[in-house]
Amino acid sequence: MRILLVEDEPILGDAVQSSLRLDGYAVDWVQDGQSALAALRTTDYAAMVLDIGLPKLDGLQVLSNLRAAHNAIPVLLLTARHTIEDRITGLDRGADDYLCKPFDLGELSARVRALTRRQPDLAQSIITIGNLSLNTSAKQVQLDDQTVELSAKEFSVLHDLMCHAGQVRSRGQLEAALYDWAHDIESNAIEVHIHHLRKKLGSQRIKTVRGMGYKIEH
Ligand code: CA
Repeated sequence: MRILLVEDEPILGDAVQSSLRLDGYAVDWVQDGQSALAALRTTDYAAMVLDIGLPKLDGLQVLSNLRAAHNAIPVLLLTARHTIEDRITGLDRGADDYLCKPFDLGELSARVRALTRRQPDLAQSIITIGNLSLNTSAKQVQLDDQTVELSAKEFSVLHDLMCHAGQVRSRGQLEAALYDWAHDIESNAIEVHIHHLRKKLGSQRIKTVRGMGYKIEH
């Protein structure tokens, strides 16, 4: 299993990396928030150990970004901040667990083991609306038990709409769901993806709410 470690303090990062490697994990270690997001775009990790105080983007911003992109990777936050507010903010933004510095490497090991054990549950995350189901880990969509071939961007748009079934999603919100491909602006046109999704899923599945956006009913 591969773990992403994001820690800008060299001595601590080195110690955590060595400790996780002794536990049998492959560990990629980066030292700022932007590098963390870049690594997450290209590699599937079983979990991430994420420091809050980081250069470029801090850990809480990294967390917000990846959850907005529907990346469900288990995250263990490392925090030097001892206030309860910081921990609550971290958990609210989608962290699974946290450790306050200084911490014991044995405890870190145990927390990472617990997070990676939870992965099989994530593998089962299937959203179903009527005859349409979307499997977030297999990246597969089925309509009446038939697999529907979608591009990665179509999948992301559909995932966002299904996660928020019954709610109107603005173009901006849907574009944010395409975060991973944000550099490729032209082909991010939401209208184009909606058009393709309607062709594949039926024209009535995704409603246009004029002047506001799109939605899927429950
Ligand atoms: Ca730090």
